[in-house]
Amino acid sequence: MSSIIQLLPDHVANQIAAGEVVQRPASVVKELLENAVDAKATDIKLIIKDAGKSLIQVIDNGSGMNVTDARMCFERHATSKIRQAEDLFSLHTKGFRGEALASIAAIAHMEMKTKLELEELGTHIIIEGSKFVSQDVAVLPKGTSFAVKNLFFNIPARRNFLKSDTVEYRHVIDEFQRVALAHPKIHFTFYHNGSDMYNLPPSSLRQRVVNFFGGKTNEKLVPVIEDTEMMNIQGFVSKPEFAKKSRGEQFFFVNDRFIKSPYLHHAVMAAYDGILKDGAQPSYYLYLTVPPNTIDINIHPTKTEIKFDNESAMYAILRASIKHSLGQFNVAPVLDFERDANLDTPYHYKNLEGEIPTIQVDGNYNPFAEDKPNKLFPTYKRAEPTASWESLYVDVKHDTSIVSGGNEFASSNNEYTFENNEFAFENEEVTSSLFNDHEVEQAVHKTYQIHKKYIVSPIKSGMVIVDQNRAHQRVLYEQFLVNMTVQHASSQQLLFPINLFYSASEMELIAELQQSLINTGFVFEESNPDHIVISGIPVNITESEVAAVLDQLLSDLHNGIPENSFSQNDTIAKSMARSLAVKTGAYLTEKEQENVVNGLFACKDPNVSPFQKPTFITMRVEDLDKKFAL
Ligand code: ADP
Ligand code: MG
Repeated sequence: MSSIIQLLPDHVANQIAAGEVVQRPASVVKELLENAVDAKATDIKLIIKDAGKSLIQVIDNGSGMNVTDARMCFERHATSKIRQAEDLFSLHTKGFRGEALASIAAIAHMEMKTKLELEELGTHIIIEGSKFVSQDVAVLPKGTSFAVKNLFFNIPARRNFLKSDTVEYRHVIDEFQRVALAHPKIHFTFYHNGSDMYNLPPSSLRQRVVNFFGGKTNEKLVPVIEDTEMMNIQGFVSKPEFAKKSRGEQFFFVNDRFIKSPYLHHAVMAAYDGILKDGAQPSYYLYLTVPPNTIDINIHPTKTEIKFDNESAMYAILRASIKHSLGQFNVAPVLDFERDANLDTPYHYKNLEGEIPTIQVDGNYNPFAEDKPNKLFPTYKRAEPTASWESLYVDVKHDTSIVSGGNEFASSNNEYTFENNEFAFENEEVTSSLFNDHEVEQAVHKTYQIHKKYIVSPIKSGMVIVDQNRAHQRVLYEQFLVNMTVQHASSQQLLFPINLFYSASEMELIAELQQSLINTGFVFEESNPDHIVISGIPVNITESEVAAVLDQLLSDLHNGIPENSFSQNDTIAKSMARSLAVKTGAYLTEKEQENVVNGLFACKDPNVSPFQKPTFITMRVEDLDKKFAL
């Protein structure tokens, strides 16, 4: 039998290798920017069109290449950065694999112009799908320009796999941000579809961070500086009161390279231990410098992960120095933002004797008086004030429309009506209550909250146990969806508009979402480059919750905004429902408990939370009997 093994032709091997290096336009941006930095450029321009799908161009004023190198750089494993394996341990450059240009050239139309400083003329090369199309001598400025057009032109499957321009553009910004933040002394400019998106002149670290994340950032930053033999730390962390819901602005740079490190992230979080609200995320921009021979950056193909020799010592140093900075810059007094003032003992009480408690009875208390409007559920209105929630549950025997399967709550008797933009439900004629009549009369409470987590209530067949958080999520979720689809949400006008500051990429995202947010009840004033002005908010949000709700939304959407508006609405409704729902651990008054339960069973799909988790369970008397029979 003849031999069957063959070497792959270079262009095929390059295409395969390209899959690892180039996933999307942002990968090309990263490689080209890093090459420009490695070439010691002081001025780097990034120009893209259609989120990089049609054009990615990087122009630098760096070293340039001579005519041989200009040709060589497109070869696989062609690099000027290492000569032997040992060089990996003293690496001072971003690149070292010599794969990027070969990979990009294999899957795009590429044009390169490059000239050394001391030469008169430069080289102009066009290469398409690994094939050299032309090579000329040209009059050029010092430095190099790479233009990459029609990415994945020869791999349609990959091209189709690309996300919307908004998503791809956001990835590009992320990469641009990482390189530009790591090199504040380099002048970066960034153009998208002909508009000037960023112009970042050479500056201090602090100024670069502020240029990126908006003027308001400056006052939020606390400097961190530490110099030990093992590593040098520089950078900033945010004051705890500015912590966000989203993990957006968290950056580690090791030897000027952006890295991800869950371990070091943990060290930062440990430094904030006890001074952050639950789930809040500080921003940080931390630059670590370590001897190159104590790290291994070769363990991940896209090189954002890193292995340190002295991981646990680094953890300790990082944590201690951030803790020190937070203390030193006197952020401690503002930390107790959540302190309950009721727990403070006023001075004049301190020396008083304890008093014997007495019982006070309010003779005017009328348990049947109309309740005050409920703050928790302001839009929630019952069509008939006296209708109590148990009347929602009709007798199974009399209602043939109820699907069997033990879910006596999936009653089709409840309908949505839209009155005065409010969401109310009405009951049709109720044949009988799930409660035995005398049971209702005797019942002091209809609902009980246990462990600030579940609401328990007797029903005819036994009892129902509702998860308060999931149930309320379901209620809010359906409310938001209804508001967004009928596009007629009511909103509350704010006396003083709220200004919220965001980074450029967050502003992009908000612009994208604006219409859906308006549909939920937000009212925006005209927009600004780095902040939004909100003059009206949905009725089921309080003013103090607005920033957190939007933060959560941005973080939920960070990894890709759904393409069609239907699922975009869905994502927003889910995110806002999650932010606003009563949490596990929250005490609910009887009225609030009732509202949660009523609201849940008025939902179209009461069985599961918006995240498909069960919202309630029932336990039949027989089940209880069985337990006692043992
Ligand atoms: P690597 O960066 O890993 O060495 P690349 O494929 O990215 O591999 O680049 C190959 C070589 O091309 C580099 O080692 C460098 O010598 C040269 N090169 C690439 N981009 C530039 C640039 N902008 N200016 C000068 N030289 C460059
Ligand atoms: Mg490179």
